[in-house]
Amino acid sequence: MQRFPTFRKGGVHPDDKKSLSSPCAIERLPVPSELIVPLSQHLGAPASALKQKGETLDIGEKIGKASGFISADVHSPVAGLIKDIRKVTLANSVVCDAFVIAVDAKQPVKVWEEQPYAHLSGAQIISIVQDMGVVGTGGATFPTHVKLMVPKGKSVDALVVNGVECEPYLTADHRLMLEETDKVLQGVMIVAQAVSPKRIIIGVENNKPDAIEVLRNAVSQKGYPIDVVPLKVKYPQGDEKQLLKATIGREIPSGKLPIDVGALVLNVGTSFAVYEAVALRKPLIDRVVTVSGEAIASPKNIRTYVGTKVVDLLAYCGNPKERYEKMISGGPMMGFAFFDDQTPITKGSSGILVLDNQKELDAPTTACISCGRCVAVCPMGLQPTKLYKLIEHRRYEDAMKMNLMDCKECGCCAYTCPAHIPLVHGMKLGKKLGRK
Ligand code: SF4
Ligand code: SF4
Repeated sequence: MQRFPTFRKGGVHPDDKKSLSSPCAIERLPVPSELIVPLSQHLGAPASALKQKGETLDIGEKIGKASGFISADVHSPVAGLIKDIRKVTLANSVVCDAFVIAVDAKQPVKVWEEQPYAHLSGAQIISIVQDMGVVGTGGATFPTHVKLMVPKGKSVDALVVNGVECEPYLTADHRLMLEETDKVLQGVMIVAQAVSPKRIIIGVENNKPDAIEVLRNAVSQKGYPIDVVPLKVKYPQGDEKQLLKATIGREIPSGKLPIDVGALVLNVGTSFAVYEAVALRKPLIDRVVTVSGEAIASPKNIRTYVGTKVVDLLAYCGNPKERYEKMISGGPMMGFAFFDDQTPITKGSSGILVLDNQKELDAPTTACISCGRCVAVCPMGLQPTKLYKLIEHRRYEDAMKMNLMDCKECGCCAYTCPAHIPLVHGMKLGKKLGRK
């Protein structure tokens, strides 16, 4: 039997629930009548507004300017009128300014023509990626141009493309690999043109054999120097640290970044966005979102504009079958619970889930029985039960000494805890308060 590589320490095997939406080809949502486009769709400082209430907008026009080194530009996905600029609360609880845009229903469809890019230097590619507002679409939303700026004295040995999509239910990247294979690969090669890696690897978990096959066929047809590596299914393999261990056998030391071990990690969706930015000069104004969960009447993978309200996506999927109180943005392990269906999609929204197993998720907390399961599954080698107790007693400094900041908030500990202790919530709180 063939053995597939994976990371060694910890990890869990939740039911992947991907069959709900993985057969569903990407559909495009009809343009909604109104979008809410936030100025904070990325890690780092929010963008500053470049437009005012009452102004009209063209498709792709820049409406927000990055306001720091780690920040990203924001563009209007549609032609329309700025009805308002107001505060919104995003699914991840970030509160920021957002443009409320009345969409011009008569806008002609914009055709983004392919332009030559083979002659571009690394610096030119990075500048275009920055100008087009590209950020990591896997959820972390780190500005991509910053990631591509390799620090002086360092170099990229391995460019590792993340096609893992290990969170249950999510299938947006899977569908992109199947349906936009060539554009994803062109995006990877554009990144390679910018950072000159010695080798390129795409890691895909072996629960997506069709994606592995189409990628391998396309790579061999085009003669790309890319190695498509099937990985054993294990959560959280999509995390940079676990992915690098699984694909190139390198460990990122505590407090260090992938580039410190000669690696650059980029998500499949981000590679697609880089292709669109550099080859089409198209800003990151839309993305594929998986809408799924047992309570969704008709799960789908939908290409939609950033700024689309969740209520519009749910209506397109036939609205939930049951009354629901909360939704999840992202996957069930690392995603954010939110309650307002007027919440907009952002550049980092990989999925919207409405589950019917809320009872299980909301099970009452009981006392810790010191079973040690949380310690066994922590991929970062932490002691979640001890950390939680320290945080409960406000001993943040002691928790920091036990490497609390290494916690990836992956949720493996809480997933496995028989006492339903909100361990991840505790880690997030401890990190926030311990930093002060
Ligand atoms: S959430 Fe943090 S403490 Fe819990 S398993 Fe993941 S990395 Fe470990
Ligand atoms: S898994 Fe839960 S019950 Fe077991 S040691 Fe960890 S916190 Fe305690």
